Amino acid sequence: MRDRGNRAQGIGVAGAGHSYAGLVSPAGRTLLDLIRHKGIVSIDRARMTVTVKAGTSLRALNRHLAAEGLALPNQSAIDEQTVAGAVATATHGSGPAMGTLSSHLRSVRLVAADGAVRTVTDDEPEFDAVRVHLGCLGVVTALTLDVVPAHTLRKTIARTPLKKILGGLDELRKARYGGFWWYPHTSQAVVWRADPTGEAAPPVPSGSRGLPQAFTNNRLSPAAARPVHSLAARIEGRARSGVLRCDEALLGSVPSRLQGFEYGIPVARAAEAITELADTVTRRGLRINAPVDVRFTGADSAWLSPSYQRDTCYLGVTCALPARRMSDTWSQPFSVIDDLLARHEGRPHWAKVHFREPSDLAARYPRWRDFVELRRRWDPDGVFLGDYLRAAFQ
Ligand SMILES: Cc1cc2nc3c(=O)[nH]c(=O)nc-3n(C[C@H](O)[C@H](O)[C@H](O)COP(=O)(O)OP(=O)(O)OC[C@H]3O[C@@H](n4cnc5c(N)ncnc54)[C@H](O)[C@@H]3O)c2cc1C
Repeated sequence: MRDRGNRAQGIGVAGAGHSYAGLVSPAGRTLLDLIRHKGIVSIDRARMTVTVKAGTSLRALNRHLAAEGLALPNQSAIDEQTVAGAVATATHGSGPAMGTLSSHLRSVRLVAADGAVRTVTDDEPEFDAVRVHLGCLGVVTALTLDVVPAHTLRKTIARTPLKKILGGLDELRKARYGGFWWYPHTSQAVVWRADPTGEAAPPVPSGSRGLPQAFTNNRLSPAAARPVHSLAARIEGRARSGVLRCDEALLGSVPSRLQGFEYGIPVARAAEAITELADTVTRRGLRINAPVDVRFTGADSAWLSPSYQRDTCYLGVTCALPARRMSDTWSQPFSVIDDLLARHEGRPHWAKVHFREPSDLAARYPRWRDFVELRRRWDPDGVFLGDYLRAAFQ
């Protein structure tokens, strides 16, 4: 690895490749694909944990656990990610009292830069660095996560004026899981909450499947967003309720090809930031063609988690366009909003687009220096740094 010659300069690992921030671009590295390294290693019912190979998808894990009468404590809006990839970037769901998925990690087995195979467990002081590692601490081969007994959730959905939601955020945050999405250019949002219930889920989920994604996350010209969003808010927000298996209740309607960014801001600033966001969109005539997704987590302990030591509100602004069609029309609103959320103490989602320089990111994370030092100790030659990570963590 020291003889760099014409060879790639290091190693990276790709999971399912859903991170579009540059984390899984080759960028001078050899990328390993562990997608076939999948399956359950073991379940420990006494400790209530599951150990899974790194390339297993969340979907496969959820199905396996359900068959065993178990479940993950939380779930993101999609389940196509690998377990290793989801954890590496602090992927989150919307459980106002729970941290990111990384907070449910108990141990990690990895191949370190010196070739040694190490198991790091949550009783080691450095484990909070490993919880969210962005691929720069080693090749993760297996992970152990908390599980809970399988359960069902009653999920309710209702259209609600944005102002009313912002006035009652504390109430919404009492739900086990819950959040809302706001339709830009309108005053309307759709609130969802999901709470445990003793009721059984029907074999085929009840209720309508909703509008096609191409409509709710429309690919029309951004200028068409206002009328489309008004209609979408009316249709998607009709009041309804149903019982679902816990992981299925937490999945969202998200297009698999999208571009966008997401910031975690302190929950205490959420109402003010969202109000400013809505005002800015109107005042500056910004056109955003997808609903803004608002979700919540509790504080967690991972050094590089956007939820580190603070109850967090995540705001996701997405656009269903492939990157190659990114244009000024698309990016101008996002740089304005990126600045706005950064001013509200925002920490960008690692997997998504943002406009922050590494020094700016560093100032947002109290344990940043500790992470950089640990990374240098574990990987002095920067074997696991591609160009993207090198800029931040060299
Ligand atoms: C449609 C869509 C919906 C999404 N929904 C959510 C959501 O609800 N909540 C949320 O927080 N995020 C969400 N995300 C972001 C997503 O969860 C992250 O991008 C996640 O990291 C993707 O997992 P992956 O398996 O694709 O990993 P990749 O994107 O392939 O990799 C992510 C990182 O993990 C590292 N990595 C992967 N496997 C290993 C390994 N075995 N060893 C070492 N490092 C490894 C990679 O090097 C990279 O740094 C969404 C993304 C998309 C595209």
